[in-house]
Amino acid sequence: MENQGHYSFFQGVERNFDKAAKYTRFEAGILEQIKACNSVYRMKFPVRIGDNIEVIEAYRVQHSHHKLPCKGGIRYSMDVNQDEVMALAALMTYKCAIVNVPFGGGKGGIKIDPKKYTTFELEKITRRYASELVKKNFIGPGIDVPAPDYGTGGREMSWIVDTYASLKPGEVDALACITGKPVTQGGVRGRTEATGLGIYYGIREVVSIKEDMDKLGLTTGIAGKKVIVQGLGNVGYHAAKFFYDNGAIIVGLAEYEGGIYNADGLDLYKVVEHRKSTGSILNFAGATNMTNSYATMEQPCDILIPAALENVINEGNADRIQAKIIGEGANGPLTPEADEILGKKGVMIIPDMYLNAGGVTVSYFEWLKNLSHVRFGRMDKRFSENQNTSILNAVENLTGKKASDTERKQIQHGPEEADLVYSGLEDTMIGSYHEIRDEWVKLDRKVDMRTAAFVVAINKVGVSYEELGIFP
Ligand code: GLU
Repeated sequence: MENQGHYSFFQGVERNFDKAAKYTRFEAGILEQIKACNSVYRMKFPVRIGDNIEVIEAYRVQHSHHKLPCKGGIRYSMDVNQDEVMALAALMTYKCAIVNVPFGGGKGGIKIDPKKYTTFELEKITRRYASELVKKNFIGPGIDVPAPDYGTGGREMSWIVDTYASLKPGEVDALACITGKPVTQGGVRGRTEATGLGIYYGIREVVSIKEDMDKLGLTTGIAGKKVIVQGLGNVGYHAAKFFYDNGAIIVGLAEYEGGIYNADGLDLYKVVEHRKSTGSILNFAGATNMTNSYATMEQPCDILIPAALENVINEGNADRIQAKIIGEGANGPLTPEADEILGKKGVMIIPDMYLNAGGVTVSYFEWLKNLSHVRFGRMDKRFSENQNTSILNAVENLTGKKASDTERKQIQHGPEEADLVYSGLEDTMIGSYHEIRDEWVKLDRKVDMRTAAFVVAINKVGVSYEELGIFP
């Protein structure tokens, strides 16, 4: 999306970095190295589409090599450009640091509108992009591991892993060259919903702290909170679903065709059905149509989740946002100008580099699964179940009381892959929020959460560079 402010997307990220850097102890050289994009690969390649040859523009950026592999999604959109991919790669560096995922930051993009192509054409473009990455050594389990992003999903990841494996015959870890694969192709259970679920876990933690909610004039807890979600793609849909399933009131939903609002709440599943049958969320019974997603985001609510593209809240509309909490599901949805305006209004902004890190966290689990060549839970599920049964039997003997069938089932249950992935993600989102909040409190709450998150990230990446001995 075209930047509405004075800064390019990458400059915006750099500006946020600089705001935080002064609260860290690192010398200028280290800070400059952390901030820099290490490698930028811009490619153009021809693909025959129908009767014509189209020259496709694409990118892969490796922002940081302080830990390897680099990690980050691949986006398909007409807005892809070098500045955008650099900004997104930089955010990946900080994101991985915040959630303690041992990767450097990377990002890729192909400048196409995927809706304009047939599946066959998309496969040709994707496979050619993958072979360009192989040719330049820009992909590999220990080098750079892409994942889905805006406009891509499991299908594209399957094409890429297949291209990689066929160009690297016999590479035993080939599956670990990309994450976000379908489970049948080496993916991990829970990856699809991971970003949305991470947003839910993150905000649930944010709103559980009474002291902070009192300051915003909100009660604690998710139940009853009024939520607007912008973007019903994989991230937005799953975020909305977890909020809805846990008692939040979804008052507004926005998509590129417009938005809908109902102060009393929308039935999320019925909206999704309505969209499937009519092709649009508009004209949903009982809801008011909004002309566009901007108008939807400006409606009254407690929590606003922009979950599509960057720069959607900017100096043109920030003033009209009524939410008390903004949870950044997308990468970079607020321009620096919007950040300032909303900060002055006292809105609590939960930054992208923390809040949407559930995706990369579960990607890390998938990578570990691929490298270990074993499904999570395979070795210990039955063992845990037997152990739980013995403990339960002993407790029953000692107390003379019997557990009900439901209780027995719950207590005995050994962890399956999805259980382990969900609990690993939950623990990560809770732990990382407290790292950021502790920093925020340490800085006397004089900075915003984004700055506190940057301080946490810079401290970790900086120490890594020092440990590498690059700056003795
Ligand atoms: N594209 C996602 C992001 O922006 C996921 C990246 C990954 O899983 O590597 O965080």
